[in-house]
Amino acid sequence: MSDYLATVLLVEDDTEIRRFLHAALGVEGYKVVESANARRGAIDASSHKPDLAIVDLGLPDFDGLEVIKGIREWSEMPILVLSARSREHAKLEAFDAGADDYVTKPFGIGELLARVRVALRHRARAPTGGSALRLGPCVVDLEARRTLREGREVHLTPIEYRLVGCLARHLGMVVSHRELLSEVWGPTHQADTHYLRIYLKRLRDKLEADPMRPRHFLTETGVGYRLVADE
Ligand code: CA
Repeated sequence: MSDYLATVLLVEDDTEIRRFLHAALGVEGYKVVESANARRGAIDASSHKPDLAIVDLGLPDFDGLEVIKGIREWSEMPILVLSARSREHAKLEAFDAGADDYVTKPFGIGELLARVRVALRHRARAPTGGSALRLGPCVVDLEARRTLREGREVHLTPIEYRLVGCLARHLGMVVSHRELLSEVWGPTHQADTHYLRIYLKRLRDKLEADPMRPRHFLTETGVGYRLVADE
């Protein structure tokens, strides 16, 4: 083991931001690998196997979204987007590609470092127990991140697994919007309840026998959601 807390990959074409972040992350005890473009970022991700990646979207060769998708083909490492794109659509696109969090430029270094800590904590907290969840036609194995619907493989994104995992840790109990958002997306997203509506709909579409009449992913109007599993 090295003396570093973790290795952080920084895919960013702006030299000043890269140097500044490298210094700030270094002070916090992280080892930093710098990549100045998307192609380099993809190579560094696979050769250095970082614990977390910070990815800019506006890169000179390819879009940062391609870097994220590429990493997601083989790794569940936390990916934090650092981008000037501030529209909700851009954020959802990044989350869809597999990003775990999103920081908009210009950013505060204190906030960015806090998000890095949260993302790394999520990674460290392994799901409890090895048992799979039985949800009507589906079996969800949170540990192996594998889902079967009537014996056929169903793909869930990393965020969807985190959402199911968070609900499953409080199986049968109501989990508030605030808690879900903070657990799955980070404490700064506590007001973004529309994320939950979008993702719960996707989970119901994928996992419920009748998504219009959910039996497992239940809405507690105005409060949160509750996951009910079969015995
Ligand atoms: Ca850029």
